[in-house]
Amino acid sequence: MASVLNNFGDDTICAIATAMSDAGIGIIRVSGRDAVEICSKIFVSPKGEHNLASHEPNTIKYGFICDESQTEDKRIIDEVMISYMKGPKSYTRENVIEINSHGGMLIMNQILTLLIDNGCRLAEPGEFTKRAFLNGRIDLTKAEAIMDIISAQNNFALESSRQQLKGSIYNKIKELRGRIIYEMAFIESALDDPENYDLTGYPEKLKIVTEDVTKVINKLITSADEGKIRKDGIKTVIVGKPNAGKSSLLNALTGDERAIVTDIAGTTRDIIEETVRLGDIVLHVIDTAGIRNTDDIIEKIGVDKAKEKVTEAELVLYILDSTSELDDEDKDIIDLCKDKKTIVLLNKDDLQNDIKITDDIVRMHFSDDKNDKLPIIRTSMLKGNGLEDLKKAVSDLFLNGDIAPKQELYITNLRHKDLLKKSYDSLKLVEQSIDIGLSEDFFTVDLSNAYAYLGEIIGEEVGDDLVEEIFSKFCMGK
Ligand code: GDP
Repeated sequence: MASVLNNFGDDTICAIATAMSDAGIGIIRVSGRDAVEICSKIFVSPKGEHNLASHEPNTIKYGFICDESQTEDKRIIDEVMISYMKGPKSYTRENVIEINSHGGMLIMNQILTLLIDNGCRLAEPGEFTKRAFLNGRIDLTKAEAIMDIISAQNNFALESSRQQLKGSIYNKIKELRGRIIYEMAFIESALDDPENYDLTGYPEKLKIVTEDVTKVINKLITSADEGKIRKDGIKTVIVGKPNAGKSSLLNALTGDERAIVTDIAGTTRDIIEETVRLGDIVLHVIDTAGIRNTDDIIEKIGVDKAKEKVTEAELVLYILDSTSELDDEDKDIIDLCKDKKTIVLLNKDDLQNDIKITDDIVRMHFSDDKNDKLPIIRTSMLKGNGLEDLKKAVSDLFLNGDIAPKQELYITNLRHKDLLKKSYDSLKLVEQSIDIGLSEDFFTVDLSNAYAYLGEIIGEEVGDDLVEEIFSKFCMGK
């Protein structure tokens, strides 16, 4: 962390903070050492004053952005409101000025150019938040939460990011680190001053602590799979032979005519991707070309892609036309689904007189370890039947049947999960050392590793590269 701080400059940065599209209002953000001075050069109050430093912080000023290099009739660039947040009571802890201008791309770019001409540097993505982190206003989990709030796609993602921004993860990690460092300090003191600290029976006491801490960490780790699914959704692929009803299923899920539905076999040749919501569960659905053996070159590309997508998917929706017999092509598809969470949809259930595939027939073709748990749903895409059952099957497979979140705290970030796992492993090594009767100084190395891994989560022990990587994923102006 120290090295990051050493490299960290306080030059003045600027960026458009609102969306890159025409809108009623746009905000251009400026932060850094010379923010007030630079903005004073381009801002003029109705009385013709240039000095923003005399404006009271946290108030809004009305005035004009002017380009003094222009002739008088062309000088005014825009009519604006300016807010000034004096550091350290600002987003970045530096002096921050926000210019509320008209929201057209051209006008905002003109103001941005003017700021750069007067000494600002264009901010990198996420640089404002990076400064908030490096200046100690927020920890790394809160910085990540800010990005997650912006990109949240559902209520769960939004709510868990809000909690994270309030400090839910930070506080939990702080608490765990506090318990670990207490033990580290005790061991160190005892080794330094054996006369006043007695280590008799200490390993047993330490083991109670590590068991307790690993229990908490393990609960967080196990929440991560569900947390990720709830936050990011499920990578889903729809497979089935041509004409089974794949496009109709996608249309039923999306509620529009996005995929072209035809009754000529093999018409959905490309891969179509859609994000759909089943209640609060998000599915990123890929509809594939009908998987079947084919000599048609274009269709073949589609089929190969479909196979590739099945490998990547977390959920396979295998749709069958229940009015035609199972054949070798179906067996190929079943083979593809072998190691995947699969839901079988027996479609065209409205054609009751022609049904040829039953649940039992399907189960017979799936391997023994899979078939008794295999969810099989009867659907009619024509009538829109079966989608509720599908929703329930997805929730049973991925969320233990609980559509609503059950836990207070979910880990939704893979980085956090990996570090928790490393911390857990280090604490388990401490327990092993206790079990085989090693001396106390052996515990310290693994305790301090566990402590450091947890520190990486909140950014207290983190290298430049990781900080760069995390903030580079942020959007411009944040
Ligand atoms: P795909 O080739 O697997 O994408 O299948 P489509 O969605 O294009 O459907 C093929 C044909 O079956 C179309 O004519 C659909 O209208 C029809 N179809 C789809 N689902 C049903 C259903 O549940 N019942 C009936 N009777 N016809 C369906």
